Amino acid sequence: MKVTEHIKNANGITQFSFEILPPLKGQNIQSIFNNIDPLMEFNPPFIDVTYHREEYTYKDAGNGLLKKQVVKKRPGTVGICAAIQNKYGVDAVPHILCGGFTKEDTENFLIDLDFLGIDNVVALRGDAVKTETYFKPEKDGHNYASELVHQIAGMNKGIYLDNELENCSSTNFCIGVGAYPEKHMEAPSLDSDIHFLKKKIKNGAEYIVTQMFFDNQKYFDFIDKCRLEGITVPIIPGLKPIATKKQLNLIPHRFHVDLPEELVIEIVKCKDNSAVKQVGIEWCIKQSKELQKAGIPVLHYYSMGKSNNIQQVAKAVF
Ligand code: FAD
Repeated sequence: MKVTEHIKNANGITQFSFEILPPLKGQNIQSIFNNIDPLMEFNPPFIDVTYHREEYTYKDAGNGLLKKQVVKKRPGTVGICAAIQNKYGVDAVPHILCGGFTKEDTENFLIDLDFLGIDNVVALRGDAVKTETYFKPEKDGHNYASELVHQIAGMNKGIYLDNELENCSSTNFCIGVGAYPEKHMEAPSLDSDIHFLKKKIKNGAEYIVTQMFFDNQKYFDFIDKCRLEGITVPIIPGLKPIATKKQLNLIPHRFHVDLPEELVIEIVKCKDNSAVKQVGIEWCIKQSKELQKAGIPVLHYYSMGKSNNIQQVAKAVF
């Protein structure tokens, strides 16, 4: 079922959902199930599975030269989605990227998803690979998520790349996209970022999931701005309980979001990471309860491979 239908069917009751990462190459699917199992009691209508593009490493070739190697550290997004739908009977939502995909790769990826009975995708641009400063699309790939949304929406109308194909079956994906209450790091201003967010909706996206934030006011202000700009689709908040002291620097660096002073002070006071984890859980419960009270349709949690703290938050909220 489509994410938008899940929202409609809930009749205003806030639902719980979460995102998982495929395990590092070499691990088995049980590590994923071990993360999902404790969260199933909160009845997630859908579970997102992130996509991780290839990375480049350079190995000493032994002759004074370096050998470039391509590695995909977290493959398996499609297989995990199929396994989730099969084992739990819950809609799995794969993320799909512009980065590393030609338009043909995208089309074939979507055909696989369609054949597996997957009804939703989150369409994203992806970041630059670690060895480059700026994002570079494939030679015949998409520059921006809005273009990827356009291709998916086209397949929903039976439009494939080869216009000589006849009687093409239409897919029926519900398309989600990402957004940033504190602005995407490359956007010159929040207004400019929202301008391009609007383009994703115009091209066919039906819902939005936000980057994590730790100050609800930033999310509420963002919603107001989007609504003023005529964006009417659901805007699902992304939440993450902080779990380690290291994340005080890592989260702002990696995700370009601010941490409220009050939260920073509480974390700095902690003697060890088990105390930090508790502060993170309590903060996230407070955020979640306020969002729930405001009638937000879904709260979406970033598990980042660990479900224990999300379970504790969900127990207090749902
Ligand atoms: P876009 O919407 O394409 O925007 C990228 C930047 O370009 C923005 O600054 C925007 O303002 C600007 N822009 C857009 N269109 C134009 C235009 N036509 N002209 C000029 N500027 C323009 N990454 C992964 O690798 N795997 C994942 O699974 C993943 N999941 C995510 C889930 C969520 C909910 C979010 C919010 C992010 C996720 N990301 C993931 C990270 C994401 O790939 C990066 O943040 C990426 O840098 C931007 O992706 P986007 O889809 O928001 O890009």
